[in-house]
Amino acid sequence: MEKVLDVKDLHVSFDLHAGEVQAVRGVDFHLEKGETLAIVGESGSGKSVTTKALMRLIPNPPGRIKKGQILFDGRDLAPLSEREMEKIRGKEMSMIFQDPMTSLNPTMKIGKQIMEPLMKHQKLSKQEAHKRAAELLVLVGLQNPEMRMKQFPHQFSGGQRQRIVIAIALACNPKVLIADEPTTALDVTIQAQILELMKELQKKIDTAIIFITHDLGVVANVADRVAVMYGGQIVETGTVDEIFYDPRHPYTWGLLSSMPSPDTDHEAELRAIPGTPPDLINPPKGDAFALRSEYAMAIDFEQEPPLYKVSDTHFVKSWLLHEQAPHVEPPEIVKLQRRSLPGNYEKPVLAGEGVDNG
Ligand code: ADP
Ligand code: MG
Repeated sequence: MEKVLDVKDLHVSFDLHAGEVQAVRGVDFHLEKGETLAIVGESGSGKSVTTKALMRLIPNPPGRIKKGQILFDGRDLAPLSEREMEKIRGKEMSMIFQDPMTSLNPTMKIGKQIMEPLMKHQKLSKQEAHKRAAELLVLVGLQNPEMRMKQFPHQFSGGQRQRIVIAIALACNPKVLIADEPTTALDVTIQAQILELMKELQKKIDTAIIFITHDLGVVANVADRVAVMYGGQIVETGTVDEIFYDPRHPYTWGLLSSMPSPDTDHEAELRAIPGTPPDLINPPKGDAFALRSEYAMAIDFEQEPPLYKVSDTHFVKSWLLHEQAPHVEPPEIVKLQRRSLPGNYEKPVLAGEGVDNG
């Protein structure tokens, strides 16, 4: 597999009066060509800051990339000048946000907004860009492109606007598309349509996607791999199968336990993770999740756990993986939650897993 992105020891901080907010604290991950990586975690865990850093969209001041490498096709983006980054942003790498209006210009016709990156980055003529913009609108599922191109953002519904943002993001066939909670602001039916659209588009064009969500429920549907973030770090990473069927980190168990599901049988047992995320100005020493974990051991309050390898694709940052740690099983509800995975999601066979009749 070819790595399109390789992020190494990324640290991002915000310098505030109250102190240095260490929003991202040593993040390592990679993205393979054409794959979808989901980044999940509670609000405040550093998902947006991590991905904004990749695009070099951290406002400075107060923010800064403190340390680390962002290797894109082997080239480090961290030290690039704004001018060099402008050639990459929107062309090689695009980002879409929760609220499509943050990306759209309310005063400009949709057609022009789609044509702009095509003329700037692809050097298309006005006529060529117009033709391509119409094609892109059809590709993202909007009818009557010629008429639509003359309209302004407010003349579209929320779901349609997000489709337009996706069209703009994909206009230059980027190698990487970052989608930061792209469906959170939309109602459930429209959410499903947008996710379906992203899946379809990914098959057609070979873009690698980083899909950020706080909702593990959508992950099984869209992702190949998952990175679980907590307190500015990745605490577990694995294939979708590994994360749903063989999760190892207590925080991942917590996220799975609190995953809302249409299956009402065990709704009553759903539980939110107790406590609150760590203070990032004074991050706890040891395992940042220890204060909230019923499985915490003495060492968790003293020393940060290393990253343990479970398989070639599965890594866990928890002392529970130490060979001398007591063996603990995930809570029952984590197993029950598998029932609420999408119907077309087939149970994988993983090493050490018994047959599950759920
Ligand atoms: P997530 O996307 O996982 O919900 P974020 O990446 O947005 O979380 O935030 C991670 C941390 O960084 C939070 O503690 C947040 O308060 C802090 N943060 C984000 N942006 C800024 C900023 N512009 N100034 C100060 N702190 C910030
Ligand atoms: Mg966010």
